Amino acid sequence: MAAGDGALVLLSGGQDSTVCLAWALDRFERVETLGFDYGQRHAVELACRARVRARLAAGFPAWGARLGEDHTIDLEALGAIASTALTRETEIAMGANGLPNTFVPGRNLIFLAFAAALAYRRGLRHIVGGMCETDFSGYPDCRDDAIKAMQVALNIGMDSRFVLHTPLMWIDKAATWRLSETLGAAALVELIREETHTCYLGERKELHDWGYGCGACPACRLRADGYARYRESSAS
Ligand code: ZN
Repeated sequence: MAAGDGALVLLSGGQDSTVCLAWALDRFERVETLGFDYGQRHAVELACRARVRARLAAGFPAWGARLGEDHTIDLEALGAIASTALTRETEIAMGANGLPNTFVPGRNLIFLAFAAALAYRRGLRHIVGGMCETDFSGYPDCRDDAIKAMQVALNIGMDSRFVLHTPLMWIDKAATWRLSETLGAAALVELIREETHTCYLGERKELHDWGYGCGACPACRLRADGYARYRESSAS
């Protein structure tokens, strides 16, 4: 890594993006964060972002010294064109195309375009996102090919040399918990358990061993299952 290399991390306040932030803080001298507000049903995820940043800075002083500005971009237009369960008060269900109706078409491509525009203005070369093809929810814009194609398009279209990093692309949820432990030991696992948000329903009443959530929606089930497998593999 060249001296002064900086990164912009897409931080939603969820488990995956928080692990990505820790990953970036471990590698880059300057790390800024970006969140998108597009009329999510539950602003709870966005509220988690500030707490995640504060606890990372307090609990890991070396990372705190590298953690720079936080940015939020208002993408209300995205919510307006995507009438799905994520943006309207409708039941989460699977569509005929096998995608959950929380799917916002091309959402990650739009996020990456905005991230690159911001990174360009901030002088940050690396863009880090939690896209993952392994625990595949069916989102085609999380696929590695989509991200790589986006990197090419952004570099041509902005005459830049951005590097798009997706540290979770080929690992499953158990390995994501393990990566947290590798990066920040038990303290980071605890931080992720307590402060990050995954549940589609925005449930944050009960703290389970895997974190907060309803325990029944697809996102909670994936997270709980990953945590159980992570604990099993740690015990053996
Ligand atoms: Zn849930």
